[in-house]
Order: sequence, then structure tokens, then C-alpha cells
Amino acid sequence: MALPASENFITLLSFPRAIVHVDCDAFFTSCETARDPGLKGKPLATGQERGIVSCPSYEAKAAGVKRGMRLGDARRACPGLIIMPSDYELYSIYSERIFAIIRRFTPDVEEYSIDEAFCDITGLRRIYRSSYGDIARRIKEDIRKELNLTVSVGLSLSKSLAKVCSKQNKPDGFCAVPGYQLHIFLAKVPLERVCGFGPNTVALLQKYNIRTILDFVQRPMSFAQRLLGKTGVELWQELRGIAVYPLVTDSKHMYATISKTKTFSPASNDRDFVKAQLMRNLESAFIKLRRHGLACRNLTVYLRRSDFSSMGLEGRINRHSSSTLDFTALCGRLFDEVFEPSRMYRSTGVILSDISEQGRDSADLFDDPVRVERVARVSIAVDEINSMYGKHTVHLAASHYVACKAHHPRNCASWRKTELLKGETSRQRLNIPLLKIGVRNI
Ligand SMILES: [Mg+2]
Repeated sequence: MALPASENFITLLSFPRAIVHVDCDAFFTSCETARDPGLKGKPLATGQERGIVSCPSYEAKAAGVKRGMRLGDARRACPGLIIMPSDYELYSIYSERIFAIIRRFTPDVEEYSIDEAFCDITGLRRIYRSSYGDIARRIKEDIRKELNLTVSVGLSLSKSLAKVCSKQNKPDGFCAVPGYQLHIFLAKVPLERVCGFGPNTVALLQKYNIRTILDFVQRPMSFAQRLLGKTGVELWQELRGIAVYPLVTDSKHMYATISKTKTFSPASNDRDFVKAQLMRNLESAFIKLRRHGLACRNLTVYLRRSDFSSMGLEGRINRHSSSTLDFTALCGRLFDEVFEPSRMYRSTGVILSDISEQGRDSADLFDDPVRVERVARVSIAVDEINSMYGKHTVHLAASHYVACKAHHPRNCASWRKTELLKGETSRQRLNIPLLKIGVRNI
């Protein structure tokens, strides 16, 4: 229902679809505060176990503490900072309770990540005898009252718009934008707020003098098509209030993080060996990620020294992915920054975070779709081969050192493991005790 351009309206319909996005504020530290109200108002950070901040509370953020910061730097920035280990079980319990509260209002709920959900409340005004805005506010209120957690809620006509709205007044925010106010709202919102517009896309659009979302949606669809392809057109529609991304309501087991760590003995400062151990953990973590049909965007790498202190670093790629190969370069770079040749290391670990369902996030518009598809197919093929012949049969060249270097007698695979009988793999062995024929047993 476009009006003449002079009126600037994008649509006059108020809510052809009413989509709500619920996003928890500083989720991990908020859960800690909900469990122990004594922590309320204090600067907190989780991530003690990995040596870097995984989630700062708003009080800590105000003092300059950022996600991914080394704990030493965080303490310097905020002297009273309380640093705690992450308790993922607690966060999953809160996550499930949040989703359960939203499901009381509508069965159409998409668990988007551990601390984010979309829900579709279209058509529920009559049942609740209230406006869509009031229903969305009630969801927010119920979560606050029952769980002592604050969430930011966005209500609009599509998933992309609802997500832009929830970001608008964080923390503890509420923002509802009906169709007839869309043009006023979007004129104030910069392009960076759109989930799917990475830095490259924003830079490109700015070359065309597009600064706000309104600038973008006022261009014709053919412009979005020509410049940004299929994903660009989808976002152009979503941002004009035409919901093209459906809610994915089949509930999956959602992880806050997936981590893999392995200790080796004795401690080592052999760069290639420690790096190979790390890469092996990366492979194992991604096998688990793919098994659950998930994708991630953040990677944390940490190395534990022989004195039991740890040092970690976090990095991020420009889109969600479930392919190990998309993260190997980042993993190598983070390793190079953390590794110090003068130190002895006893274990390495990786943590995958910012996890969401596979294939749902729009790829960055600048990724070569053919390459993305090829890399994804390689992962699937490797998983298939490894499920037949044993985990890590096909592995990264960078982790090969783990397989070929018998670093220490205790890390040596036993004879029984290396010499397989007919019909055995390294994972599935026949349950036969092996008697070496020809060895005399006295
Ligand atoms: Mg959040």
C-alpha cells in the first residue's frame, strides 16, 4: 500500500503481521544477579575460566569493560569488578523459562539463540482484549516479575524490523513501530542496526548516499536487487514491513556455547604441537555444532599454562557458519597472538559462541555464495566420511601433528588401538580381548 513519494509513507497498515523480538540484556551476568540479588548494581563479568570477559554487566560496561577483554585489562578499567566463572547450566535454565513464558502468549515462538526469541502475536488482540503493544509489554513484564530479568522488546511488522526495534532502547527497552509510523522511525535508524548489513554492505550503501534505513527502503526494489542480490531484496522487503522470513518454531536444543578442551602431558612449548592440539579441539567443537544443526559466529581460543593460569582471546567472523574451514584462519591468528614461546602449555581449548540455527542468518552480502556453499559441502562430506571410518579420519592439515606425533608415552595410542582387527575402526572395536599369538605367557 505505497502512497505517493511526497507523503513518505511506506505502508498505512498498522500491523499486517505483529512480530515481537525479545532480547535479554547482558544475559549471563543478569542470570547471576537474578540468582544472587546481592550482586545487583555491582560491576560484574563472567568468563573467569577462559581468562577473558565473556559477558560484562551494564555497570561494568559503563566503566569500560568490554566483551573479549583480557581479565587483567578489565580489572584495570574497573577496579571493583567482580569476575565469576560462567555457569552455562544456569543460563540454559533461565533461557528455557523465558521461552516458556513467551509460549504462554502464543505457540508461534522461535528460539533464536540462548537469549533471544521471536514470536508472532498476529490476531491475538481480541483474545487478550488489548493492543499488540500491550501484549508485548505484558511478555516483558512477566519475564521481569517471574525471573527478575530485564529484556528489551521490539514489536513491528517483520522479524528484521522487530530486531531493529529491540535494539533501539537497550537495556530494559521497549519499542513498538506500526506500519504507518515506519517512515518516521526508519529515518532515525542507521544502517548498522540491520542484522545482515555488515561493515562492507554499509560502506557500499554509503557510497550511494544511503545513511539511514529509510534512505535504503525508499530506493526501488531493482536497486536492492542490482546492488545486493537476493538477500538484499529480502531485507529490503522485510524493512518495508513485508514479512518474508518465517518464524522457525520447531524447538531445538540451544547451546549458549560449545567448548572443547584437551590436556596433554607433559607440558609443551612446541608451537606446532600446541597449535595442532588447538586445531583438533576446533574440529571436535564444530562436529558437535553441526550435529545439532547449529551455526556460530564467535570463536574464543585459550591456552592453559603449566602454572595453571590461562590466556584467551576472542574473535568473530562476519556471519554465522557451521564450517570448520571458515574459522581456521581466525583460529590461527588468535593462537599467534596468545602463544608465547617462552611459556610451557598443558592444554588448549576453544569455545564457540553467538550460536544460532544453521542457515537462518543471511550471509554477508559480500561473501561469494559459491564458496560458502562449497565449504559447507566439504564439512558435510568430512562428517560423512568420519562417521564411517572414525572421528578425525579426515582432518585439517593444521591438526595433523596431533595424529602423527607421539609426544609422550602417555599420549601414545596403545597397540590395541593402532593395530585394528578386520571390521574394526578406532572408535568401534570388536569386543575381543586380543591375545598375541606367539608370545609366551608364563
Ligand atoms: Mg542479548
